[in-house]
Amino acid sequence: MSTYRIAVLPGDGVGVEVTPEAVKVLKTVARGTGASFEFEAGIVGGAAIDATGEPLPAATRALCEKAHAILFGSVGGPKWDDVAHEKRPERGLLALRKDFDLYANLRPAACYPMLVDASPLKRSVVEGTDLMVIRELTAGLYFGQPRFREALPDGSERAVNTMSYTSKEIERVARMGFEVARKRRHHLTSVDKSNVLVVSQLWREIVTRLGREYPDVTLDHMLADNCAMALVARPTRFDTIVTENTFGDILSDEAAILAGSMGMLPSASIGGRIALYEPVHGTAPDIAGKGIANPIAAILSAAMLLRYSADLPKDAERVERAVLDVLQHGYRTADIRQEGTKLVGTAEMGDLIARALEGMY
Ligand code: NAD
Repeated sequence: MSTYRIAVLPGDGVGVEVTPEAVKVLKTVARGTGASFEFEAGIVGGAAIDATGEPLPAATRALCEKAHAILFGSVGGPKWDDVAHEKRPERGLLALRKDFDLYANLRPAACYPMLVDASPLKRSVVEGTDLMVIRELTAGLYFGQPRFREALPDGSERAVNTMSYTSKEIERVARMGFEVARKRRHHLTSVDKSNVLVVSQLWREIVTRLGREYPDVTLDHMLADNCAMALVARPTRFDTIVTENTFGDILSDEAAILAGSMGMLPSASIGGRIALYEPVHGTAPDIAGKGIANPIAAILSAAMLLRYSADLPKDAERVERAVLDVLQHGYRTADIRQEGTKLVGTAEMGDLIARALEGMY
């Protein structure tokens, strides 16, 4: 089997602590399957600013260019809060998304049975939740032109952003939605504001037309405001959601609370030349350096890498089952701790999951 190259960019804060646990799990998969993974580490974010003055140094970019996938940690922290906008740590991540045209951001939110009580929602509402939000990531309101501020003659100001999509931009992310739904429970909900936005009317037309190519996927449409309510009122009605950049930003964060903790949420940014996998959480400066961060979001991001980039869906499932197994045995990091469970640190949780996985080969 040819070598599969993974660029490992831990970044800053807890990124440095959780990413090695994801690598540990991928190495276990490699041993179990005979797949050949090659890991090469690079610096990004604040660590890269300290070393080179740039959040995404040329060497790191070159490393990613020759990789098949990127395993990313998280970037930023109070130390770099005052650096100039263009040099901020998150510019490293944004540059990667742009350079590789990563137009689809996949964020699953599942409520594990043993963590139901960690969610702020009632058990009867949240139990059984297992959904995926696909957010368009490179166009829409966050990137549309014109965008500007101007002074008005009466001394007040005006600011303008533009929500803009081409039919191609809509079609490629919608297609991703159908393909992902096909790998899940064959139900796609397209979210828009077609009652008020002309962009959403085009969005809905294109998604509807594309739906005819996917007769095995049940398609429905929902307005973004209605979706915001339904996510907390009846989250189990959803399987796969596909939506515009801004709506997706808001709705995927809302969906995140269903899972109980930031430390449980993986993500993938795909569609472009290579894909990037990262936990949803940031660098958690409040707990960084203590060895207590939850590595499960990073480990589940590695599972997504196996499913969506390395074409090893059975191994992705094994990793997910290993996580479930360890949680079922009562092991918890501090963020998801409940009475009667066993408290473990970052590396110990990684070891436990790797061991559970090893037993599946
Ligand atoms: P955060 O996600 O870092 O932390 C929010 C809360 O969740 C904190 O209480 C933290 O302790 C907890 N948490 C996060 N990850 C955890 C884990 N793995 N295990 C246990 N608890 C965890 O968000 P924030 O505090 O708003 O941001 C901190 C820094 O991270 C900022 O500099 C921000 O810009 C950066 N950030 C980076 C990314 C990224 O790299 N993609 C994303 C979000 C925030």
